[in-house]
Amino acid sequence: MSKTLFKNLRIVNPAGTPVYIANGCISSNEGIIDHVGGTPSNQSDYDEIIDMKGKTAVPGMINGHTHLYSALALGMPSPRRIPKSFIEKLRNVWWKLDLALDEASTYASYQAGILACLRAGVTTIMDHHSSQNFISGSISRLVEVANRFGVRLTTAFEVTDRNGPQRFEAALNENLVAIRDFSNHPYVHPMMGLHASFTLSDTSLKIIAGHLDKFDNPGVHIHVGEDKADQQDALDRGFDSVLDRLMKLELLNKNSLIIHGVHLTEADVAAVKKARAFLIHCPTSNANNRVGLMPGDLTRKLTVGLGTDGMQSNMLIEAKEGELIRSSHISGRDRNIDYLNLLFKQNATIASRLFNQKIGLLEKGYHADFAVYDYHPRTKFTEYNVAGHILSGMQRPCDVVTRGKFRIRANKFVSINEDEILANARLESVKLWEKIQQIG
Ligand SMILES: [Zn+2]
Repeated sequence: MSKTLFKNLRIVNPAGTPVYIANGCISSNEGIIDHVGGTPSNQSDYDEIIDMKGKTAVPGMINGHTHLYSALALGMPSPRRIPKSFIEKLRNVWWKLDLALDEASTYASYQAGILACLRAGVTTIMDHHSSQNFISGSISRLVEVANRFGVRLTTAFEVTDRNGPQRFEAALNENLVAIRDFSNHPYVHPMMGLHASFTLSDTSLKIIAGHLDKFDNPGVHIHVGEDKADQQDALDRGFDSVLDRLMKLELLNKNSLIIHGVHLTEADVAAVKKARAFLIHCPTSNANNRVGLMPGDLTRKLTVGLGTDGMQSNMLIEAKEGELIRSSHISGRDRNIDYLNLLFKQNATIASRLFNQKIGLLEKGYHADFAVYDYHPRTKFTEYNVAGHILSGMQRPCDVVTRGKFRIRANKFVSINEDEILANARLESVKLWEKIQQIG
């Protein structure tokens, strides 16, 4: 690693200071930004000086919740019968996919999924994994692929009771092994993955909490209140809500990722706030699953980040579609959620706490992760219209840098054979879809 100067850049840093630099440079020293702004007077100590020719840099983006294992579901045939409910959709689509995934198709999903993230300028991925017939070793394979691509990763294997006690044990153990092996890894933050409250018994949750007690707060990554059925299940078990259940069973802490939160009570919001846990909003998934709209005022009460829930890889599109979905449900002067704030500010706050490193801004001391767009605006680009240009003008980066190194340069992966990975994904997806059809 070395000292590199990326000069002649338009720099957009939506959650930082300043928000906009018309012509500046980013200096990376051992993968950490040591200067953003004007060209340094002394350039003799740089190993490399790269002229970026007026292109536009934004911080490498963070996906607050996704499922890389669904990468091969793109274009997958719909179930024979249209699901009547959210739970039926899980049973007929996603729970068949995660049973059908074997080692080869899981590996192909990791590669194709991370490739798509980097292509969209996403450099940190908070993954929630499930391959219920390939459990042991699945997280270490994921870490291996992420390292090869140069992305940062939180890991979590979905623990659930729905496939019997042996798979419950194996999934729990897979998370524990990852927590043991990767807690000191510079680019990996291992978490405890739970599918959702409604697929875990009290006994199972107590076992998980007992194991987590032995570690230094890795945090759980769990779907909560995505559909009303999840809350109803917690009521049926004698709790006030899902979060009441997680709190009483000592699974909620400041490193927890609570995903969706479409159906939360006031007490739930207070519990998340008190625990200083994070909520991740996944607007296109919620729209797709017809589970409702997350209350917008949660973004003023809690630290709320943005995720795609496997719906897509491009966070700029997720932010724009999230804004449009909500706009179609509100009227007049009702405030929309500031999706750019969720994406660039809140996601950076969340990632920085989980990894205990500075991630997600283009400022001194932060990791040198950024996406560069060959963007030629047809209107004036200033600090006042950054949102418009980012969400409506920019689409796919031509260069992506992580840890101060090019991963994509002039639209080509530097050390990854993209054609080979895509060809393998096409091959594996055919086999995977056939296997899914055979599952009852
Ligand atoms: Zn999810």
